[in-house]
This record gives sequence, structure tokens and C-alpha cells, in this order.
Amino acid sequence: MPKPLKTDQSKKLFQAAQKHLVGGVNSPVRAFKGVGGTPLFFSRGKGPYLIDVDGNRYLDLVGSWGPLILGHADTTVLNLVRRTIRKGLTFGAPSPLETQLAVQVKKAFPSVEKIRFVSSGTEAVLSVLRLARAATQKKRIIKFNGCYHGHGDSLLVAAGSGAATLGLPDSPGVPEEFASLTLSLPYNDLGAVESAFSKYSDIAAVIVEPVAGNMGLVPPKPGFLKGLRDLTAKNQALLLFDEVMTGFRVAFGGAQELYGIKPDLTTLGKVIGGGMPVGAYGGRQELMSQVAPEGPVYQAGTLSGNPVAMAAGIATLKKLAEPSFYEKLGGSAAFVEEGVRRAVQKTGAPVVFQRVGSMATLFFCPHSIENYEQAKNSDRKKYAAFFWAMAQRGVYIPPSQFEAWFFSAALTQENLKKIVKAIGESLNEALEAN
Ligand SMILES: *Cc1c(COP(=O)(O)O)cnc(C)c1O
Repeated sequence: MPKPLKTDQSKKLFQAAQKHLVGGVNSPVRAFKGVGGTPLFFSRGKGPYLIDVDGNRYLDLVGSWGPLILGHADTTVLNLVRRTIRKGLTFGAPSPLETQLAVQVKKAFPSVEKIRFVSSGTEAVLSVLRLARAATQKKRIIKFNGCYHGHGDSLLVAAGSGAATLGLPDSPGVPEEFASLTLSLPYNDLGAVESAFSKYSDIAAVIVEPVAGNMGLVPPKPGFLKGLRDLTAKNQALLLFDEVMTGFRVAFGGAQELYGIKPDLTTLGKVIGGGMPVGAYGGRQELMSQVAPEGPVYQAGTLSGNPVAMAAGIATLKKLAEPSFYEKLGGSAAFVEEGVRRAVQKTGAPVVFQRVGSMATLFFCPHSIENYEQAKNSDRKKYAAFFWAMAQRGVYIPPSQFEAWFFSAALTQENLKKIVKAIGESLNEALEAN
């Protein structure tokens, strides 16, 4: 048995934080409600490691929820950021780095002819919905249960199973009138999308995580994305790929490259900011030219495209373009997948490991998962025990069953072996726990 985790300093800091910050955090999942106990406070990250304020060192499989595909404090990224910072943090006016990052993104995403940078994924999604509604002159949006697209009003709707139930708000403060324009359907269910289109003539767009990561990792079933492409085209609606998580993650060109589907509009974030706050949206010239100042669809941002964020993105994407980057990264995740398979064979643990590229989730559920309704069958208590068992063994995984693990290129073969060993032991511990 490993030693119990020392968390005195984290506990102290969390107590202080709770006096001043809502729930002691600035984003809800960080409060560890999904696994219990005190959130770990971190003081630094280096390569594959996160180090907490009590001095515990963890191999990090969260990567700040996706952006840190190169690991923590990557030297190339820090160097360019440092050089950029010396010249000032923001101008509120054009600077050369914006075009540079735009060119890099377009190289990876041929469906993106024009791009607009913003400061978060949430902002990118809000902007792209406004554009889709303006371009189609229709109101209604289809999304999928369990897909997260940021916290915009019309997207905080996941309620209602079954086909085409009218959306009910997921949060107080979202007026029913807004929510009623969002249809939330089961992921991977083309039939539900088809029925929605035959029932409503005012559907502007279908927005989807082309590989779902926000209910835990759930891949699209074969034909699902192609079906969405066909149904939207047939009904004069737009197809929006929310690749904030999958862009530059499941492949250089995101899920649209991996599955060979061209959406009308794409949102990006996370990896393209290399650890700084960045989002982006883009698509065909004819659509994007409706955005101000080329067109009437208003969208703006004081810090949008600021040089520091652009620099972090530029340095990151440059490294991702190196030959075999994604083969190697996917190989790391596949090595752990194989380790889990062996552990499950040995222990008969009722778990399933779902993976696309360097994103994965270990569900405490005996069957594979195609949608949120099924994901909810997972044993969250066992996951919580597993989380803490892993932490004790020096591996930090997401503090929630419904989040994806992210592998980074900084993980060495030795690190991966340690992760596999920790998983085997932690599975045993979690299965014994009640
Ligand atoms: C993280 C995420 C967002 C929101 O991005 P923020 O930068 O947190 O606002 C939107 N869509 C998807 C698919 C995401 O994973």
C-alpha cells in the first residue's frame, strides 16, 4: 500500500479560498464534487508532472483539460512567450502574430477559409451560433445530451431523453424562452435528428462534439457524423463542429480530418492557445464574411488575438506539425489502453476504456458507452475511490467520471509503465471499496 496522501497545505488553502471565491474555485469541476475530499492546489508543472503545494508529484493526465498537449512549461512555448511579453502584453490593435496563427490553423483545417480569434471556447461557440442563425435566418439549434459547448444560455440545455423533447434549462437564470429554441437529442442517434428536422422547419444548425469528451470519452458511431452532414445539407441547416477539445488533439486537423467530414463552421480553443486563453471560430469565406466588420453579425473582444496568447499557440502548433507527432502520442495512449485491457482480464473488473487518439475515459460500467444516458450508468462512487487510489500512486486523472483523460507528448515510456501499474493496483482498490 502506498502512503496516504499528505494534503495539509491544500486543505489550508482551500479553506482560505472558500472565504473569497465562490466554492473556493473559478470553475466548478475543480471543487472535486465528483470525487469528494479536498481539491489539490498546485504550485507548478514541468513536462509530464504536476506538483502540489504539499510537495506531491503526479503524472498529469488532465493537462489543464486538454490544452497542454506538449506537457507543462514546454521550453519552446515558454521561450516564444517570453520573447513576446518583453514587447508588451496587448495593443488592442492588429499585430503580426494573429495572421501567423491563422495560417497555421488553416493549414490543418481546410474547411476553415477565414478565422476569428476570441478568448475562450465559450465565446467561440456563442459567436458561431449567432452567425449560424444570421446566415440561415432560422432560430432553432440542435445539440446532443452530454455534449458541452461552454456555458452560453442556449447551450445549457441537456434535459429530456427521447427524441426532440423541448429543451428545459439546465441552470436557473436561463429563460425558458431561450431554452425552447434548443433541442437536445441523444448522441449517436441519427433517427432523433431526422425526426427533429421533419417536425421543425426553423432549425438553423446542428452543433456537435464530433468526438464527445465532456460526458467522458464517447466516439461517434460509424456513419453518425456523415449522417449529420447529409441531414443538415438536405434541410438547409448548418453543421457546426465544436472542436474546442478535439481540434489539434485527435489529429492535427481534428475530428474532421480523422473522420473525413467537412462542417460548415468550426470552433476551436484549448490546444490552439497552448495554455493561454484562446478560442477561435472559422469556416467558409461566404459565411465568415457576414461577421463584422465585413458583415453585419456583431462580435468583438478587447483582448482577442493578443500577442501573448497568439505566441503560445504558434509555438505549440509548430511542434504538432512535426512528422509522426500524432502517431507517437496516440501510441502512448494505446500503450495504457493495452495495460488496462490486461488488468481487466486479470481482475474481471467491470470497466470499459474508451479512447480516440490521445483522449480516453475509463468508465466504471460493464458495457461500452454510446451516449450520455448510458454514461450515467457508471458507478461514480467506484470512480471516486479509483481517483484517490491513483493520486496516492502519483497519477492525476480528472476528478470526475464524466471527463476525458488527456495524454501529453511529455510522457516517457517509463511514465506510461508507471501509469499502467497504478491503474492495475487502483482498480483492485476501487473494486474493494464500497
Ligand atoms: C472546453 C470546451 C468548451 C468551452 O471552452 P472554454 O474555453 O472553457 O470556454 C466548449 N466546447 C467544448 C467541446 C469544450 O470541450
